[in-house]
Amino acid sequence: MKITEVEAIPYRIPMRKALHFASGEVHAIEHVLLRLTTDEGLVGTADIPPRPYTYGETVASVTGLLRGLFRDALVGTDPFARERVHERLNRTVGNPTTKGAIDIALWDLAGQAVGRSVHALLGGYTDRLRVSHMLGFDEVPAMVDEAQRYRDEYGIDTFKVKVGRRPLALDIELTRALRGALGPDVELYLDANRGWTATEARQVLDATADLDLTFFEEPDDAAEVLGRRWLVRLSRIPIVADESAPSLGDAAREIQTGGASALSIKTARTGFTESAKILAYAEAVGVDVLMGNQIDTQLGSTATVVFGAAFAYSARRAAELSNFLDMADDLTVRPLSIVDGFVAVPDGVGTGIEIDPDKLAHYRLDEE
Ligand SMILES: [Mg+2]
Repeated sequence: MKITEVEAIPYRIPMRKALHFASGEVHAIEHVLLRLTTDEGLVGTADIPPRPYTYGETVASVTGLLRGLFRDALVGTDPFARERVHERLNRTVGNPTTKGAIDIALWDLAGQAVGRSVHALLGGYTDRLRVSHMLGFDEVPAMVDEAQRYRDEYGIDTFKVKVGRRPLALDIELTRALRGALGPDVELYLDANRGWTATEARQVLDATADLDLTFFEEPDDAAEVLGRRWLVRLSRIPIVADESAPSLGDAAREIQTGGASALSIKTARTGFTESAKILAYAEAVGVDVLMGNQIDTQLGSTATVVFGAAFAYSARRAAELSNFLDMADDLTVRPLSIVDGFVAVPDGVGTGIEIDPDKLAHYRLDEE
C-alpha cells in the first residue's frame, strides 16, 4: 500500500463563545483538514489546529508545507512506515501540529488496513475518559456560572482555570469563588500560559494554598530558566509543562532539569507515536500526565480520547476534551457527547473520525 494523495483543506467554523487566555484568544476555528489517500482507496484523516500564538504555525504555513515539502515526504510511502516518514519530516524543525496530524492520519490508515480501531492497536485500556473542562477568561461570576452549568449539564467535576491576569488579586478571587461555589469534591487546577513571573506565580500559590488545587500549568515563562526552577522547587503542587514541552526531547529536558514536575500531552502536536513516547517517559520517571486540549474540534478531541483511553497511565486523570462545546459546529458525522462527565471512545476501524461532506463543503475556505 502506498500514499497517493495528500489533501490540506483549510476551513473555518465560528466559535459560539470566544476563548481568551493569557497568551492569546480564539474567535473562530481556522484549521486545516488533512487527508491521506492510498492506492487501495483508504483515506486517513486528521485535524490540524495551527496555533500562531503558541507554535507560530498558521493556516498558510501548514497548507504550504503539506502541498510542498511534506507532500514529497508522504507520496509513494507505505503508511505503515511511520518511522521513515517522521525521519523525513524531522529534517524540518518545528511545525508540531502539522507533524502530529500526519502521524494520526497514518495510524488511521493502519487501523483501517488491518480492520481494527487505533484505540485497540495502541493499547485498548478503557472505553472512556473522564472530562476536565477549561474555563477561559471572563468576569468572576460568569466563570463560576459556567462551571456550575457544566457540572449540572454534563456531570463534569474537574475544571482547568485559565489565569495569568493582573492584578493577581483577580485570579486569586476567582479561584476562591470557584472553590466556594463548587465545594470540596470538585478538582481545580490552574493554567497561566506564562502570564506571570515566577515571583508572581509564587504569590498566587501562597494565596491559594488552602484551596486544594491539583496542578499549576505554565505559571511563568519556562525560558526564564532559574526563576522556573526556583518556583518548581518551592511549589507544593506539580508544575505542569505544556507549551514548554511540545516534544519528547523538550519534555525530558524540562523534567530532568527541574523545569517542571508534570507533563501535558497533546495529540494535536505529538500525534500518537511521539505522545506514546512522552507517556512512557512520564511513566518511567513517575510524573503525572494531563491529556491536554489544543482548542480542538470534535475531530481533534476524538484523537485525544482514542489515545488517552488506550493507556492506563494517561487514563488516570480527567482529560481536557470539552473545548468543542464552544464551537458553533464541527465537520464530524458522529458528534462526540459528554455524558455523566465522560467521553466514550468511538467504535469502528481506524480512529473513528468520519467527515460529513456537506459540512466540509460549507466550511472549507479553498473553494465555493
Ligand atoms: Mg496549557
